[in-house]
Amino acid sequence: MPDIMHSVLNIGTLGHIDHGKTSITRSITHVWTDKHSESIKRNMTIKLGYADAIIRKCEKCEGPAAYTTEATCTKCGGEAKPLMRISILDSPGHETLMATAISASSLIDGIIFVIAANEPCPMQQTKEHLMIINILGIKNVIIAQTKIDIVGSEAARAHYKQIKEFIKGSIIEDAPIVPVIANLNINIDVLLEKIANMPIPKRDLDSDPVLYVARSFDVNKPGIDVSNIKGGILGGSLIKGRLKSGDKIEIRPGIKSVKTKRETYERVVTVIKGLSNGTDSIDEALPGGLIGIETEIDPSFTKADGLVGNVVGHLEKLPPVVNAITISYTKLNRTDLQESQIAANEPLILGVGTNTAIGYVQKVKKNNIELSLKHPICAEKGMRIAVMRNIGKRWRLSGYGILV
Ligand code: ZN
Repeated sequence: MPDIMHSVLNIGTLGHIDHGKTSITRSITHVWTDKHSESIKRNMTIKLGYADAIIRKCEKCEGPAAYTTEATCTKCGGEAKPLMRISILDSPGHETLMATAISASSLIDGIIFVIAANEPCPMQQTKEHLMIINILGIKNVIIAQTKIDIVGSEAARAHYKQIKEFIKGSIIEDAPIVPVIANLNINIDVLLEKIANMPIPKRDLDSDPVLYVARSFDVNKPGIDVSNIKGGILGGSLIKGRLKSGDKIEIRPGIKSVKTKRETYERVVTVIKGLSNGTDSIDEALPGGLIGIETEIDPSFTKADGLVGNVVGHLEKLPPVVNAITISYTKLNRTDLQESQIAANEPLILGVGTNTAIGYVQKVKKNNIELSLKHPICAEKGMRIAVMRNIGKRWRLSGYGILV
């Protein structure tokens, strides 16, 4: 197995609405993260909200100019050798983006923080995203200063100073600020060089594997001959351990049981028929990047993201499935929310890994909130859970809890 398979980073994107998150992602990966095509799905590429790319380095060019995601160097036409794989997470909507950053934080190795030069810094959402970065303690952050072509060089320089002032005293005080023009591909190479130089976090390869299912689908075309039907496909990221082709796996909490009137879930036990890193088949999957798992599950269960939010691991080795949880809650300091105290009977939306769960508050005792869940979840103590409240008829990210 080539080394590049072990060199994978998951990069989250943050930034105020319309500041150019999707354009940056497209410049790097050449895909729009808010769309997905059937043909790519059939190749087991997982990219719903995720976009993958391989960062390459030209052997002839020097400095940032050598970095590209094309196989052929765009500057000299020489061969660009693969350095590392990256998966970029780009989630739509301000509230869900922040909730995802919190609940999937165990999957995020670094962040591209997009700040547009055509608006004063910081905008409200930019401020909140810096707060999230500080909470998560993610130091691997690159600031992309976008839309500099709209404002001209003098205003861009003044805006650069605003950014510097804004991040002063924060965890990302020394983060590099890269001015880019995404549409014209200007300085995307500098951005790629900075990503390539991010330290790859030490992965836990020895624990029992835990994979969060972020996507699931059916790759069979309608009318396919029964003997050619492929099993359901799961897409997700390992937060620890390793999975191999042929491994017997368990999916929890699993599938809603139709046997009883009361809503219960049954775990699914299956075998890994094949593994993919998005572009190639692999024998073994490790943490970092998004992987596709071909299973023997009836594809009608995996189609249309039917198994998203489940957790995959080896048989009898997964965290428990629970119907009630207690979290140690921390409220975010959001200046735009007029909030009352969380009280008994209030419904909350919880982001747990890639799962979205509805919980009803049973009891509040100081910072501890006891919740009963509408559907069971598979969750491990210490997990960081995003907490959304219904405020002014909208679901807003209010804070986060640690599962106790
Ligand atoms: Zn070159």
